[in-house]
Amino acid sequence: MSYSSKPVVVVSKCIGFECCRYNGQYIHSDFVNTLKPYVNYMSICPEMEIGLGVPRGTLRLVSAKDQIELFQPSTGKDYTEEMLNFSEDFFSSLQEIDGFILKSRSPSCGIKDVKIYLGKEKVSGTIKGSGIFGKAVSGRFPHLPVEDEGRLTNFRVREHFLTKLFTMFSFRQVKYSNSISQLAKFQSYNKYLLMAYHQREQKALGKIAANHENMPFNKVVEEYEKHLAMAFAMPPRYTTLINSMMHILGYFSDELTHEEKAFMLDTFEKYKDKKVPLSVPLHILKSYAIKYKQTYLLDQTIWNPYPAELVDISDSGKMENS
Ligand code: SF4
Repeated sequence: MSYSSKPVVVVSKCIGFECCRYNGQYIHSDFVNTLKPYVNYMSICPEMEIGLGVPRGTLRLVSAKDQIELFQPSTGKDYTEEMLNFSEDFFSSLQEIDGFILKSRSPSCGIKDVKIYLGKEKVSGTIKGSGIFGKAVSGRFPHLPVEDEGRLTNFRVREHFLTKLFTMFSFRQVKYSNSISQLAKFQSYNKYLLMAYHQREQKALGKIAANHENMPFNKVVEEYEKHLAMAFAMPPRYTTLINSMMHILGYFSDELTHEEKAFMLDTFEKYKDKKVPLSVPLHILKSYAIKYKQTYLLDQTIWNPYPAELVDISDSGKMENS
């Protein structure tokens, strides 16, 4: 088997790959387009995979007898089982995978905020939930980044998604290496990024990678992956980010003047108060790492956890918590 040299991302086919929506159209996503040169996309349309054509009668989620059905009002047919069976078969066929970008609010692909009708009649009320395929993805791949194209217009959601995607991809290379020293290197390069996400997990990961009990590589990696997923479960908080940057600042405590340190601390405060973006304190710290030739720090992934060309600070300002 030859492994992909870029992260592999499963994407809903209607996000710019094929006119496969119920109405024969597709939707556009700037983010999905921008990411194209940096990943290998595997596009999939679950509704076409279960045999539905284009155009087709719309599907909707209906809450019936304590379970959610994928229902087609125009035919009265329930496609839940077909969709679940397809999902299982598809997941089993995946050999390498690093993340998912799914179509928002779709009864099949949606991961959040999908309308669930409380009955099959038109006048029924609605609640919100996940599409059948989207829910199956989140359940089967809890450690991978899974997002929809709508939420990815939010800067913080996008940053977290990209950080997790490229970190998980580089961890996959460690798994293939079958080498405990590669795992130790991964832990070392990611130290301050992990600290910025979750200090307790960063310490736990350090212990696992050190492998003092001389466990077999596959056992170590299995345990490490569990904790890595916990570390990246949520976007980092500004408090943990500042904590990590304070640790980096510690490398220069003997070199910096009182005024330089005060300026740095003031920049952390401004970042905390949302007066400057994270890139500002990080850039100042990196300039010190360059000036004082701190090669260990310069190798850290916290400066660029994903390709710099993908940094886009535009923000729709919505949906982070939805
Ligand atoms: S949302 Fe999913 S199922 Fe619907 S058209 Fe797009 S890819 Fe196909």
